[in-house]
Amino acid sequence: MMMEQLRETLPLWVQASRLHASEGQVASYIPELAKAPADALGVTIMGAGGETFSAGETDFPFTMQSISKVFTLLLALMDNGEDGVFAKVGMEPTGDDFNSMLKLELVEPGKPFNPLINAGAIAISSLIHGDTPAAKTERILSFFNEAAGGATLSVNEDVFRSESATAHRNRSLAYFLKDNEVLGEEIDVEDVLRVYFRHCSVEVSCNQLARMALLLAFDGFDPLVGRQLVPKRYVQIAKTFMIMCGMYNASGEFAIKVGIPAKSGVSGGILALVPGRYGIGVIGPALGAKGNSTAGVHLLETMSTALDWRIF
Ligand code: GLN
Repeated sequence: MMMEQLRETLPLWVQASRLHASEGQVASYIPELAKAPADALGVTIMGAGGETFSAGETDFPFTMQSISKVFTLLLALMDNGEDGVFAKVGMEPTGDDFNSMLKLELVEPGKPFNPLINAGAIAISSLIHGDTPAAKTERILSFFNEAAGGATLSVNEDVFRSESATAHRNRSLAYFLKDNEVLGEEIDVEDVLRVYFRHCSVEVSCNQLARMALLLAFDGFDPLVGRQLVPKRYVQIAKTFMIMCGMYNASGEFAIKVGIPAKSGVSGGILALVPGRYGIGVIGPALGAKGNSTAGVHLLETMSTALDWRIF
């Protein structure tokens, strides 16, 4: 499909996929997220020259939620190397919900299966360098800003407070990690949680998400700035996790139907990429049973099929 055709067709695909929003519901376990527009759907596709194709509601900001875990993983890898990171988290998908406790005792005691489930991402938050929680958050934000091509992203403090006040399950996961010494003696659990909730609450637009995805599409090389921001090996690791467990326990189905690395969040955002070609940001707040944007997944499947994106 030629670029001009894509520009004309994208709004039609969004219109058709938007109908699938009614199959889902906006997340409400973080009360602040329940305010999002349930039937919205927006997409931005960004190419190597920064050219964008957008359709639908791409203007309203949303929090990254679990999408942020891909980028904290990258920063943790840059701070600690592979051995340091994999001392704390495993390399396997769980097939369980993102906040599940079921398999936490199964591998080495207490070690989370992977860095994209909540337990794993909380362990990753503890690995980010910085003397205080505020300093860690500062480093995370400046890395996210660089990844988004020099953006000035910020934490939505209302969403942060809303999550922090209701996060009984994440708190129990974190204390369980502490009990099993995945979080070491010197680590304060509440400090780690503050860092984790804040990086989940970083606010982005579709366009910024697509820009961040572009960095991953080019293996850590920012094609617009002309600089290798993240070592290729670390992006390779992150993309492998995205395929295995980026869409929670619907990752197998997503790999078969859509076939590109992606990561979703409970705000309804999805970051996806076509290797060597596009960064993609999608927002559709209504979520299906497994926590992914119903309209967003439908749209990605439509685009991947029509544009022959599947990597396998
Ligand atoms: N902040 C959210 C949580 O910890 C992130 C989860 C998600 O996006 N799946 O519950």
